[in-house]
Amino acid sequence: MIVCRTKAELKLQLSSLRKQNKSIGFVPTMGFLHEGHASLLRQAHNENDAVVLSIFVNPLQFGPNEDLDRYPRDEKRDLMLAEECGTHLVFMPSVDEMYPNKPLTSVIVSQVTDRLCGASRPGHFDGVGTVVSKLFHLAQPDRAYFGMKDAQQVAVIKQMVNDLNFHVEIVACPIVREPDGLALSSRNLYLTPEQRVQAVLLSRSLRQAEEQLTEQGMTSARLEAIVKDAINEADEAVIDYVELLQFPSLQPIDAAALLSTYKEPLLLAVAVKFGATRLIDNRIIQATEVNSYV
Ligand code: AMP
Repeated sequence: MIVCRTKAELKLQLSSLRKQNKSIGFVPTMGFLHEGHASLLRQAHNENDAVVLSIFVNPLQFGPNEDLDRYPRDEKRDLMLAEECGTHLVFMPSVDEMYPNKPLTSVIVSQVTDRLCGASRPGHFDGVGTVVSKLFHLAQPDRAYFGMKDAQQVAVIKQMVNDLNFHVEIVACPIVREPDGLALSSRNLYLTPEQRVQAVLLSRSLRQAEEQLTEQGMTSARLEAIVKDAINEADEAVIDYVELLQFPSLQPIDAAALLSTYKEPLLLAVAVKFGATRLIDNRIIQATEVNSYV
């Protein structure tokens, strides 16, 4: 496995892969890798000749009061896990390497960023769109792998790739969970033992809501209320949002409309704070059987 810390090194290594006509699967991450990241790397390994992983904690996507400074890092462990998953090349640039000058250009995706984390974290997706564009230009992948854990990110990146004609296929991968259902996240580390027990309510409430989806007369307002009531059972949980939207357009659905009338996939998404730790989770649900999203 080759580790590149500069754009020049990356370019050199990629040109040698390209000369051998190898297809490239790309997995962008912020590091502190866990089984969720590993699943993306393994899928990329199965579907491409070479896997490129990027590890970069992107300051542009953190708000002023967010956890940029305390975002967890463990380079040695990351490299071991990456190698185990069949990664060929790791790109780990410094902030100065990625942004030698303050960028005056941003990639801003509208509409799909209006709600959910886009509303709660102003500027977050501008930072994501900008860094992912830069990484796509640098890595020139055939396919790029993103987890449905960040479902809005998948919708935003797909929109950006379509709008700006990036030659890359976006592959959405399923959420990897702990045995009790908690979605894996680098931020789970910060939960106290009590918060960790309570955090299981996120995934549990989404699952329960899905079971009630087909109940007669079910509306988005009722379904959202079911999830909110379940999460509020946790005394340390502070709900940021619980929303049911169309996916991947992320357009709202009428609060009073019967869910049985929707044939498109629907995204039931939650964000909850436990102290300073903000967790997100979601489920793609729909009344019909065909579901192209994971
Ligand atoms: P991050 O390092 O948190 O920016 O995540 C990098 C990529 O890993 C993103 O595409 C995430 O959606 C994905 N990811 C993070 N956690 C999970 C998980 N539990 N299951 C699947 N993918 C995940």
